Amino acid sequence: MKTCTSCIARLPERFFPMVNGRRQARCGACLNTARRLRDPLPALQCSPLQVRLNNTFNLWHGPVSRAPLRIAA
Ligand SMILES: [Zn+2]
Repeated sequence: MKTCTSCIARLPERFFPMVNGRRQARCGACLNTARRLRDPLPALQCSPLQVRLNNTFNLWHGPVSRAPLRIAA
C-alpha cells in the first residue's frame, strides 16, 4: 500500500504507474486527470454520414420557424 501525493488515497502499488522503472508518487487516476487538463482534446473528425443523419433528424419536421407552431390549436 502507498499513499498518493495528489489525492492522498491509500492504494496498492499496482495503481501507481511505472516510469523508467520507478513507481510514480501520484496514482494513475491523478496522472490521467493532470494529463487531460494539460493536453486539449483533438479536433473531432467530421463524418459526412453523421452530418447527413444529423441534418435529416434535425429537419425532419421542417426548418425551425420564428412563428409559433399553429398545427395544434
Ligand atoms: Zn491520486
